[in-house]
Amino acid sequence: MTAGRRAVLAAMAGGLLAGCAGPNNGGGASGAASSPPPGTAAADSPTTSAVAPVTASTTRPPVTRAEIVARYGRSVPHTWGFDAPGVVHSLPDTARDIALTFDACGGPGGSGYDRALVDILRARRIPATLFINSRWIDANPAEFHRLAADPLFEIANHGTRHRPLSVTGRSAYGIPGTRGAGEVYDEIAGNRAKLTGLLGTPPRFFRSGTAYCDDVAARIVTDLGERFVSFSVNGDGGATFTAEQVHTTVASARAGSIVLCHMNHPEGGTARGIASAVPHLLARGHRFVRLSDALHHA
Ligand SMILES: [Zn+2]
Repeated sequence: MTAGRRAVLAAMAGGLLAGCAGPNNGGGASGAASSPPPGTAAADSPTTSAVAPVTASTTRPPVTRAEIVARYGRSVPHTWGFDAPGVVHSLPDTARDIALTFDACGGPGGSGYDRALVDILRARRIPATLFINSRWIDANPAEFHRLAADPLFEIANHGTRHRPLSVTGRSAYGIPGTRGAGEVYDEIAGNRAKLTGLLGTPPRFFRSGTAYCDDVAARIVTDLGERFVSFSVNGDGGATFTAEQVHTTVASARAGSIVLCHMNHPEGGTARGIASAVPHLLARGHRFVRLSDALHHA
């Protein structure tokens, strides 16, 4: 284990990612919903055509909720945390690239928009990957459309209700996780359908609320056609860090690092910390990339 990884895990042990969700998030009314979210019905009835297109043999039909439940409804998970088979923590094969990723978690206390941060990225032409939750889109529709239209940014899936991804209902930072394979499907596929409708193409990358998952849930992410992307640098401690802490942490990134920060807490130190860390990393010869620039199709 590297020093950086130990530092990440130590920070995690302190609960520093909890700010991603906020104290009022994750429980309450939204937890009572158990039906599939809107927009997923089409996945249950893939259409077929009498005259199959040429590409049909290479295009798999969407995996349905029922199929996921049939495959994994009785599976017992063996891991819980930031790591599981198939979870991506760093960029492969690079001597200089770093991926900045920013989560927009949504929900009560989590639907802010850090405009200063985005302005900094745009002014310096720094590409980034934005993990966006359904609830954040609902709260910031105009901002979402502007971000999605900007080729500097790649939009990724940060879940439908921002739940830790569990098949047994395990919680993280006090936020209850999904309670079975069906709810894991809902958490991924609800926002996947929303993003696909808004962007025209499905997202390639998924990160759960709190970034927690078990190994069965991670397999479901893969089955639905996305890659679970975790992180190697916890850049803003769930948007709880001061600007100085963000600077120190982000400036410690190395080639291949995936840096996790937030774009939904403008009151935090993220924007100022990023503003001072980015020139530092550029001066050391690093280059910033979006995840799809570095993680090719499996
Ligand atoms: Zn989040």
